[in-house]
Amino acid sequence: MTDGSISEKTLVARVYPRSEHPVSRSNISKNATKVLYRLKDAGYQAHLVGGGVRDLMMGIKPKDFDVATDASPEQVKSLFRNSRLVGRRFRLAHVLFGRDVIEVATFRADHSSGQGGEAEDSGRILRDNVYGDLKDDVLRRDFTVNALYYNIADFSIIDYVGAMDDLKSNTLRLIGDPEKRFTEDPVRTLRAARFAAKLNFSIHPETEKYLVEHAYMLEEIPPARLFEEALKLLHTGHATASFGQLIKYDLLQYLFPLSDKRLKDGEQQYERFIKQALTNTDKRIHANQSVNPAFLFAVFLWPMVWRRAESLQSDGVSVYPALQQAADEIVAHQLYHTAIPKRFAVPMREIWMMQPRLLNNKGPRALKLLESPRFRAAYDFFCLRAESGESKLKPLSKWWTEIQEKNPQERVNRVRKDSYGEQPRRKRRRRNRRPRQGGGNEINGNV
Ligand code: ATP
Ligand code: MG
Repeated sequence: MTDGSISEKTLVARVYPRSEHPVSRSNISKNATKVLYRLKDAGYQAHLVGGGVRDLMMGIKPKDFDVATDASPEQVKSLFRNSRLVGRRFRLAHVLFGRDVIEVATFRADHSSGQGGEAEDSGRILRDNVYGDLKDDVLRRDFTVNALYYNIADFSIIDYVGAMDDLKSNTLRLIGDPEKRFTEDPVRTLRAARFAAKLNFSIHPETEKYLVEHAYMLEEIPPARLFEEALKLLHTGHATASFGQLIKYDLLQYLFPLSDKRLKDGEQQYERFIKQALTNTDKRIHANQSVNPAFLFAVFLWPMVWRRAESLQSDGVSVYPALQQAADEIVAHQLYHTAIPKRFAVPMREIWMMQPRLLNNKGPRALKLLESPRFRAAYDFFCLRAESGESKLKPLSKWWTEIQEKNPQERVNRVRKDSYGEQPRRKRRRRNRRPRQGGGNEINGNV
């Protein structure tokens, strides 16, 4: 055990009564409160724990509410008809209220202290289902500020690890021996970056030292889990700050190795492109606008895709097949590191494939493009390219912005004017053609 860390031997609880902390029931969701009371009334311990307590302590609106109890997952299940048991690595109960899910976890002990736990030779935890008491549960959590327990029985907050002091000094500190804790779950390195960003905390020097030393272990983490973490880093309203932390601790290479290499090569235009996309994403999330992970993944991989497509084109492959092949190659490489589920990979590729189409704003095709379900994302992406350095795209991005502001007839007129000058196209064409049966307006006929 090294200085500054927290061991079982030094574990003494400080209990903060309701009068000494700001967490109020009125700020806890109705559903979470219901779950807490139902457990308590059935004779179990029931605590709000994790990010919910931490965020309420800091005056932030929690993303979700997690509950910890001494009831087993099966006992929780029998208490709530609206619940189901999930997880293998962590077995827990989800209590469902429509779309709102309250996660109820049974107090757990160190995975090595009994049956139900399993670790690799390297020390990485594979299964973590050894049950214990509240004190045990504290020790298996990651950071001190994530290990405060709000007890519904008397509204007090229980702090075994000096979390209140760390909250006061804005410090993120791993519980226990940092070397062991990063080894048993290297994803905690990414979580450290995320919480430092979200909370604007400094990472405790000892935690920081071992974070840097153990980051390489992220290479062993399954790509699907890295995708989940990437999503939390980039899609919870603090992507810009998270990106800063990923760069600071050299963690980006484990999520987006190709992007990391380009950034390290000093590609400033690419860096601007990414940063602008992250700023826009944060803004949209804070304004409660929808965001799709496909967009940011498209951003991170784009320069590699585009450059590879250009090189294929110079070998004689035409535009779209070149782009398809480049996308296949870059995505295949990426999937070894961070998985991208199909539901995001498909729209991501559509955004890329629409980029050359946006270069053509002439004729009926332009109007058709506007109707595409992926147009808006591809257009945003195109504008981002224009703003972050590809200034030759600016006139076209302006054109696509203006055309969207028009009603359908105005759109037709504008395209007709910009494509064929003032003279309507059909008049010129008709001279060379036999009239169609019933006549036909080629421009209007295609929209
Ligand atoms: P937020 O919901 O704001 O992202 P959170 O702290 O609630 O933050 P979750 O991922 O929801 O984070 O996890 C809930 C709690 O479970 C954490 O606060 C922490 O106590 C514990 N926890 C989650 N992941 C780990 C992990 N990899 N190692 C140890 N403890 C963890
Ligand atoms: Mg949470």
